[in-house]
Amino acid sequence: MKITPVVYMLPVVAMLAASPLQAGWKGGNPVAGGQAVLPVVTPLSDVEASTLSFMREEEKFARDVYLTLFDRWESPIFENISAAEQRHMDNMKRLVDAYGLVDPVTDDTVGVFTNTSLAALYQELTEKGAISLEDALFAGALVEELDITDLKRAIAESTHAEVTKAYESLMRGSRNHLRAFVSQIESLGIVYEAQVMSQEEVDEIINSAVERGGKGRGGR
Ligand code: MN
Ligand code: MN
Repeated sequence: MKITPVVYMLPVVAMLAASPLQAGWKGGNPVAGGQAVLPVVTPLSDVEASTLSFMREEEKFARDVYLTLFDRWESPIFENISAAEQRHMDNMKRLVDAYGLVDPVTDDTVGVFTNTSLAALYQELTEKGAISLEDALFAGALVEELDITDLKRAIAESTHAEVTKAYESLMRGSRNHLRAFVSQIESLGIVYEAQVMSQEEVDEIINSAVERGGKGRGGR
């Protein structure tokens, strides 16, 4: 479905994309004069818009960490999963465009981010992951735990079925990626301990079967 962005939302979402924690805008129609503007789609709330923008860049973050770790170790797991993250980025881009948001990915170069927290975490994880393959696999599992945590929050606040569905698809991918990283860690004879999620939640994922993605993709 082609969605025409709501024109009056544009300055607002531009501001949100630039700074999700912006102060000053208290909601309401920012158009002075109060002309009635009938939206053709239900616009995203400010929080939903900011989250979608963030998820777009978080998928880039995952892709870039894996591309960098693949360069370092040439272990196929990083290349394979980076390709999935590229698809996740593309899926988020379609929604960013559909809702008329400003794309936070202004430079596709590996390691370049608009969000300074993602930039810092990229530095930290690629440095840690350069130490040993084991560290790299733990960095990968951490990226997936973070992604799952952020997606759960995004799904909880989402009021747009199409967006929720896209997040759920990304989260299935993330669970599969977590399974893959943990499986390789455990093949080194190391017991994986949860890094940001609860151990129970991680155990539930790694002890359940690989999930199929959409359109016949995924599975084993
Ligand atoms: Mn992903
Ligand atoms: Mn992933």
